[in-house]
Parts: sequence; C-alpha cells; structure tokens
Amino acid sequence: MIAEIIFTGTELLLGQILNTNAQYMQQELSAMGIDLYYQVTVGDNLQRCAAAIRQASKRADLIIICGGLGPTEDDISREALAEALQLQLVQDPFALTVVTRFFKERGVPVSNNNYKQALVPQGGIAVDNPVGTAPGIILEKEGKIYILVPGPPPEFAKMVREKIIPYLLGKMTERSGLIMSRVLKFCGIGEASMDEKLSDLLKSCNPTVAPTAKFAEVHLRITAKAKGPEQAQKMIDDMEAKVRERLGSYIYGTDTETLPSVVISLISQKKMTLSVIEDFTGGQLAYQLSSAKGSDGVFKSGLVVTDLKAVELLKRCNWGSLPADLKQRAEYLATAVREKFESDIGVAVTILKDRGQGQAQTSHKFVMAADVNGVTMSREMLLWGDRDDAAQRATTVTLMLIWRYLEHGIKF
Ligand code: AMP
Ligand code: MG
Repeated sequence: MIAEIIFTGTELLLGQILNTNAQYMQQELSAMGIDLYYQVTVGDNLQRCAAAIRQASKRADLIIICGGLGPTEDDISREALAEALQLQLVQDPFALTVVTRFFKERGVPVSNNNYKQALVPQGGIAVDNPVGTAPGIILEKEGKIYILVPGPPPEFAKMVREKIIPYLLGKMTERSGLIMSRVLKFCGIGEASMDEKLSDLLKSCNPTVAPTAKFAEVHLRITAKAKGPEQAQKMIDDMEAKVRERLGSYIYGTDTETLPSVVISLISQKKMTLSVIEDFTGGQLAYQLSSAKGSDGVFKSGLVVTDLKAVELLKRCNWGSLPADLKQRAEYLATAVREKFESDIGVAVTILKDRGQGQAQTSHKFVMAADVNGVTMSREMLLWGDRDDAAQRATTVTLMLIWRYLEHGIKF
C-alpha cells in the first residue's frame, strides 16, 4: 500500500509551529509496512488543499489529511475532500454526537460554528474523538482510502493510535508485508570507518542497513520487510549477528538504550557508585546521568564549576591545591570528587579554552579524567565548533570513555 500525507495549516508553512505529527505518522506507517512516497504541506486554502488531494489520489492508495477539522473559517479539510471527490457534505448523526458530547461534558453550550464539524462527505464514516470536538473521517472511494485526522497533537495521536492504525492493519492483512527495524548504537568508531568495514552489508536490499552519524556516535538501522513479525525478526537477528561479528566491540546498545543509560546500568551491575565534577559542560554530564533510568543510588553527586578559579574555593574544604598541569589537575579532581562524595568512580571534565591558530573557528581543549577505585586515567582532546557543540560532544565522549573502560577495560 502506498500512502501520501497532506498536512494542512498556514502556520506550518510560516514556520510558526513544528510539524511534530509528521514524524509520528511516518513512523507508524513504516511500522505497518505502508510505503510513503510523498508528503505535502498546504496552507489553509480550499482550492490548493483540494488540488493536493486530487494529486495525491493519482499516486497513492491511502491519502491521510491532517488538520483543518476545527470549527473556524480557515478549517477547510472536510470541504476540500468533498470538493476534490465531488461529493456532498451531509450531517452525520455520530459526528454530531461527538461534537455535542464535548460541550455537554463541560457544561458549555455548543457554538453555532461547531455544527460544521458534524459534516461528512457523503459515504464517509465519522471517527470518534474522545478528547476534542473534531471527529475524524474515513472515506473509501474507487479503491482509494481517504482519512481525515485532527491537527492538535494529543487528539491526532490518540485517534491514530486507537482508531486509524487498527483500521489500516485490518485493510493491510491480505495486501502487503510488514516493516520492522532495529537500531544498533556504536561509539568509538566513525561513520567512514564503519562504512568501510560493512560496505557489502550496506548494499543489502532486504534487510536494508543504513548508518547515521550522531554527536560522537553512529547509529545503524537494520530494516526488514517480511510477511510476518517472526520472519522480520529473524532477518534482523541474522544481519545483526553479521554486524556484531565485525564491529561488536563498538556497539554499546540498541533501540531505546542511550549511552548514559548503559553507563548507569553497567555501574549498577558492578554495584558501584559515581560522582562527577564538570567545568564548561555546565552540568550536562550530571543531567544525562541523573535522568537515566536506574540512576538513583548509582549516580551520587555532580559538581558544576564554570571557572576553575571556583575550584580554589574547594581548597577551603580541604581539597588541597590544584596541580598546574591540565592532565594532572583533571585526574586530581576526579580523585577528589570520588573521595569527597564517597563514590567508587570519580569523573572530571575540564577545559582549557584555546583559540584556533589563525582560524576563525574556536577550538576547545578538554581533558576527561577518571578515578575508578584508585586507578586514575585521563585523555586530552581538541574539540572544534562553538561552545555549545563542543560541550555536548565532550559530554558524549566522556560517557563513551567511561563505557569503554567499564565494558572492555580500555583505559581513557
Ligand atoms: P487544526 O486542526 O488544523 O485546526 O490545528 C489545530 C492546532 O493543531 C494548530 O493550531 C496547531 O497548533 C496544531 N497542529 C496542526 N497540525 C499540526 C502538525 N502537523 N503538527 C503539530 N501540530 C499541529
Ligand atoms: Mg489548521
């Protein structure tokens, strides 16, 4: 089945709101094995919206129209569908119940303009919307399926999840296959080097294997198209085994796992605790570690300093004096934070701000250090980019270094 989505709303074209419904719909279609070749965004204009629907019906079997089901003048999706298919709009008794129920529940009288939300192009079916006034519409005509869903994200998501997906799955069973994906997450290897090691696998058509570079990590998506879930699962498992055989030591997790969640889980398995001190990363390391699942009792404390002079203050708390050498200083801080917060692991991220020689771009020299039960280690790193980029990258690199040491015993 081939789908096309039409998003309506002038606010989307003006960039006033982000089209968050798009990602949700795309992921759901792909999970159901429905191909999406085009998606179109059109303003609140009856003729242009009707033209977009006519165009979509020439190249897709399923046309989903999102938004424009409200009660106001600029909500024209119902009218546009009726116009595109040359159908009359008629009042639908169930749609009327949906509209009036919303007001009844709140003890508010129905506004006159809300009655237009009970109109449905002839032959269409109204879809319940328990959280808003706009019923959805499903209409089948000449082998094509037209679906209208409301724009407000909570109404949209609930209707898609509870009504539209079950309806489409029913339509799909006999038609085509199913798409399933798994994401393998790598750190410590670049996209280019991965490309080289997996070049033959990256050419595979089913399952497909596609890398995407993220901040200091690479994600590899394996996507299989099959008749049923067991077959898709097996195809993904086989491909994953091939990838792991070549690059397994770089894989820190899959799907919803993140570097901080994997680090926390490793430390927890080892029955250890962690504390950090950050200079320049502004608490990003502490934030990521403390928001990871299972961090309670594992991540003990985080100290944020924006200027190493602030660390002078710590002297008054018997932290002693700091070594001048950057690496020694970072290791010293890692040990200090481990001891002061009575943790098994202490981590320090420090920065020496540095100007790129003769270049407009700023570079940042970081030192990441750790003390794991008295074993100290550190790594110097030059990171390019603006402050924000460099700080994010430094945070990810630090997490990667911790993961590598805990998982594979490789020192920083
Ligand atoms: P509408 O159903 O077109 O009247 O849209 C109602 C509200 O839903 C808009 O004001 C937006 O805030 C929101 N909305 C509509 N379409 C989208 C979309 N594609 N993604 C996110 N929000 C949306
Ligand atoms: Mg709108």
